[in-house]
Amino acid sequence: MRALVFDEGLKAVDMPIPKRGRGEALIRVSLVGICNTDIEVTRGYLAYKGIMGHEFVGRVEEADDADLIGKRVVGEINIVCGECQMCRGGNPRHCDNVKAMGINGWQGCFADYVVLPERNLHVVPDLVSDRQAVFTEPLAAGIEVLEQVHILPTDLVAVIGDGKLGLLTAQAIHASGHDVVVLGKHEKKLKIAESTGMDVSFVGEFTERVDVAVDCTGNASGIETAMAIVRPKGTIVLKSTFHKGIPVNLTPVVRNEITCVGSRCGPFPPALRLLEKETVSTEPLIDAIFSADQMTDAFEAACTRGSLKILMDFRA
Ligand SMILES: [Zn+2]
Ligand SMILES: [Zn+2]
Repeated sequence: MRALVFDEGLKAVDMPIPKRGRGEALIRVSLVGICNTDIEVTRGYLAYKGIMGHEFVGRVEEADDADLIGKRVVGEINIVCGECQMCRGGNPRHCDNVKAMGINGWQGCFADYVVLPERNLHVVPDLVSDRQAVFTEPLAAGIEVLEQVHILPTDLVAVIGDGKLGLLTAQAIHASGHDVVVLGKHEKKLKIAESTGMDVSFVGEFTERVDVAVDCTGNASGIETAMAIVRPKGTIVLKSTFHKGIPVNLTPVVRNEITCVGSRCGPFPPALRLLEKETVSTEPLIDAIFSADQMTDAFEAACTRGSLKILMDFRA
């Protein structure tokens, strides 16, 4: 099978189809999305080596659970032990022995086939196309903010960052009825946010104070913007992961008694529901779809500054 592997460098290789273990499914991959975390992996994040990728939609070819066979699925990225204190305490995404597909200790989905535990899989509703379903994982990550922070109906929420994650997270919060302003640097991307009914502003030009600021910039400057615009006693949600940090003065957090919340992966079922109802618009976020025969070109396109979602198609 074709696979995009990171091992010091990025290589498109040919390798055997993986074998599934007990309770695991073998999935024929249809469409995958390249995420900023993938780019960070190639810069040394978590020292990962192996097949890249964690955003996919595909069809189950083999599984213990006969009901799953032939089903179109998306998959949660964390592979957990089910036995440690975090798992037993109801926080399996923070399992002490966690592995993450294409990021940490588990082979990714930028390949013709991927293996995942059956319990990680969610069947995609018929009304949700492959092109929408491939956004389930990053949209779920946006929805996680709503699980973590109690946003009041009168609150103003700023999402900092007009990239893929920012535009999905902002839409997820907006879909639940909140006032959302997206702060970004790119006119084209802010237009996308505007077209979904949200307010937008260039980062440096925004002068209001917000109750909740969500950093989706993917770089360390996001928290500084967040500290500058959030009101005293407000909340900052941090969604950026990067391989290396920069020194940040957190004094405003102390002085203004700001609550900081780290936020990573989220629940898939509500993400699939939002896609099914077309409450969240994903099509404008697609920059290009590459064939799986052009995986290194696709990755290069994803690394280009300012690019939105790059997809890779394994169906042909
Ligand atoms: Zn991702
Ligand atoms: Zn565990």
